[in-house]
Amino acid sequence: MSSAIDNPQPSLPTQRLLGKVALVTGGASGIGESITRLFHIHGAKICIADLQDDLGNKVSESLGGEENVCFFHCDVTSEDDVSRAIDFTVAKFSTVDIVVNNAGISGSPCLDIRQADLAEFEKVFNINVKGVFHGMKHAARIMIPRKKGSIISLASVASATGGIGPHAYTGSKHAVLGLTKNVAAELGMHGIRVNCVSPYGVLTDLSLAHLPEDERTDDAKAGFVAFVGRNANLQGVELTREDVANAVLFLASDEAKYISGVNLMVDGGFTSVNHSLK
Ligand code: NAD
Repeated sequence: MSSAIDNPQPSLPTQRLLGKVALVTGGASGIGESITRLFHIHGAKICIADLQDDLGNKVSESLGGEENVCFFHCDVTSEDDVSRAIDFTVAKFSTVDIVVNNAGISGSPCLDIRQADLAEFEKVFNINVKGVFHGMKHAARIMIPRKKGSIISLASVASATGGIGPHAYTGSKHAVLGLTKNVAAELGMHGIRVNCVSPYGVLTDLSLAHLPEDERTDDAKAGFVAFVGRNANLQGVELTREDVANAVLFLASDEAKYISGVNLMVDGGFTSVNHSLK
């Protein structure tokens, strides 16, 4: 009997999204920018939907301009903005095969629920939950008649455990997972896959958002990376934005054609073992 060693798998194709069109919310910076760049390398046309016009247009220009990657100013808290971003993408590139609901914020840290601020809670939920809801709803509008599509949302290790983020952030990421499961159950009959990706800590603006601008020093950045490294189960390996983008790429590609409703952890084993933060 032949084994996998006798018959090694062919290497993965280099253009895993050739001919596909993606919308990436929050694609102008951070993890979303890495997703945009990786999708571009793999042959997709992409629309970045973000608040940051300068950064979004810069990413577009660096990838050959709007024939490859276009930018649409969009606040994901507005259903109208998200709806128009999806329609703009379809007008520009003829369809939408992949929607990545990536835009998110962490909100201010608060360790005491008695002190938690409702306005802050609502701000986080408006972006992290309502934004994802809008993305799923308008992705479905385009994808259902076409009987295919992949919707991927950025959750977090905070979708699987408490005690590692602000109340609103943890609540919002549990909600992203709940929405993912519900919409996956609903859209499977239309051939549409719905998944989420849950990273542990990656060094981006979001991970240092709790610090005032003048305290986001190299030492603070190194401290964040060291904290994540200490607490991941997998030791000696650093989590990068590209690692997260690769997980999103996999779920977006046809290699994941039978995967729906999952929460793909990119956390170095953090949530798989009993942990107390060190
Ligand atoms: P980031 O702050 O570096 O980038 C977020 C992007 O989203 C920015 O370009 C920003 O302009 C955009 N954005 C914010 N609010 C928006 C809005 N209302 N409408 C449209 N765009 C908006 O953040 P990141 O670290 O790259 O995080 C991306 C996603 O990954 C988030 O959903 C976050 O919760 C999740 N995540 C991040 C980490 C981490 O450690 N960085 C860990 C787990 C999960």
